[in-house]
Amino acid sequence: MPCPLFINGFMATGKSTVGRLVAARAGAEFVDLDQVVEERSGQTVAELFQTRGEPGFRALEREALKNLLESSKEVVVALGGGALLERGIRLAALDQGIVVTLEAGPDELMRRSAGGPARPLLAVPDPAARIRELLELRQPAYAEAHARLLTDGLDPNDVAARVFQVWKRAPIAVAAGDRSYSVDIGAAVIGERLGPLVGRAAKVVLVSDENVAPLHAHRVETALEACGLRALKVVLPPGEQHKRIATVERIWEAALGAGADRSSLFVGLGGGVVTDITGFAAASFMRGVRWIALPTTLLAMVDASVGGKTGVDLLAAKNAVGAFHQPSGVVCDAETLGTEPERGYLSSLAEVVKTALIGDKELFVLLEREGAAIRRRDREIVTEIVRRCIRVKARIVSADERESGLRAVLNLGHTVGHALESQGDYTRLTHGEAVSLGLVAALRIGERLGLTPDDLVRRSIDLQQALGLPTVLSDQPLGEAAGLIGHDKKRAGARLRFIVARAVGEVEAVDLGLEELVAHTRALA
Ligand code: NAD
Repeated sequence: MPCPLFINGFMATGKSTVGRLVAARAGAEFVDLDQVVEERSGQTVAELFQTRGEPGFRALEREALKNLLESSKEVVVALGGGALLERGIRLAALDQGIVVTLEAGPDELMRRSAGGPARPLLAVPDPAARIRELLELRQPAYAEAHARLLTDGLDPNDVAARVFQVWKRAPIAVAAGDRSYSVDIGAAVIGERLGPLVGRAAKVVLVSDENVAPLHAHRVETALEACGLRALKVVLPPGEQHKRIATVERIWEAALGAGADRSSLFVGLGGGVVTDITGFAAASFMRGVRWIALPTTLLAMVDASVGGKTGVDLLAAKNAVGAFHQPSGVVCDAETLGTEPERGYLSSLAEVVKTALIGDKELFVLLEREGAAIRRRDREIVTEIVRRCIRVKARIVSADERESGLRAVLNLGHTVGHALESQGDYTRLTHGEAVSLGLVAALRIGERLGLTPDDLVRRSIDLQQALGLPTVLSDQPLGEAAGLIGHDKKRAGARLRFIVARAVGEVEAVDLGLEELVAHTRALA
């Protein structure tokens, strides 16, 4: 457990008691953030509220928290109830540590706070009403966590045992207010994690495809059986050509026929096609039901499973119909990758290189060092790669769930990549191969614009080649593909936000005229 554990939640949820128990269990240091603030300022929390007001107290609290985040050591931190209310610091804690929110009902909180220390925020005529009001206000912030645990009626030792398990598991959190969820990555994790994620769903609809179901559906079925559940299984024909509304209709009809209702849960087990279709079927069935993604390809793990984009193709337009619908959980079981077809697996490494270029220098170095192990799918290395990619994507999605700005950086290599993919009618190149070539184009165009250093271009191309990815643009019908760039649905008028790399882990969007970009692309041929 190399990162700090933050125990968050409303006052009187037992953060300090549980924190001490978890620290003892792990043999780790325990820190009570309120105490740190008190020691540093020489005043109690109540005095600080009186002398400096809540904003003054929060500033001290933030400062203490930042120090702890920078230390990145194995420590258990019990937070004050308002310590992570500011989103910037909350996202930093979610990125650099594990955050577990302890919860309790308002009556239980009232009972517990009556006997405890003085609570400045409850020094009002009607503390019960104040608790309800604050709880409602803070709910979206508390929901952004790696896990939430309802503590009503539980012994602190039981709560501590559960918190410890979350810390040990170290999932990755995608912060999206009440729609937040976490991603588990590891070997055989479907068996471990599916039960708790399914929760109390009465009916489960398992969607997979004809290739994946015979190989991996048993993992899901066994996990469900352990919870006394049997899923309705919908097995689709495989491939992008079936990513159509008619396929979604098949799922809706099967679900309805089996008596599924608003409390039902959809589970998508497969590549990006299956998870995109399942997510969309869940987004629209009965105006939205919960769903879980169990990605079984490298592309689906590192890209499709995180971010909540779901949908289907329409006529020649990929993903033209869809919805943002975050899953309730994602489980990336590395064992499923063992059977992924070779071309798909290798070409998805382009998305991995892209992710490293966008936001993870260490991942880039790992890819350079471990090319051979990655190509032979060494489970430990692949798990680490998936984990790092998801962390970068989760960080970006958490900051920009609805793609209003920052999330555009994920398009690095995709502008020319999509054009090449479309030029080849989505059959000549796989998505990953097109992205690999698109990455080379983006690097070279960045170089032509004087923004991407030439040694970065060389380094990335060397890496892509070592991973078995295509990089030679002169073999490609670039002229024809350039003419298709204007069809990019992310284009705003005659201009485009083109993503360029400045360094490994550093990218930016530049505003380019479409004509200019087309000319640059043609020049690369
Ligand atoms: P895919 O789902 O078509 O899977 C590729 C092939 O591998 C299929 O034939 C499938 O049956 C088979 N397969 C999958 N897992 C397997 C396994 N473990 N063992 C054996 N066979 C297996 O393709 P993909 O590359 O996973 O995903 C591509 C799709 O993902 C595209 O439709 C794309 O639009 C979508 N996507 C979505 C997002 C998003 O944010 N939602 C992001 C990236 C890509």
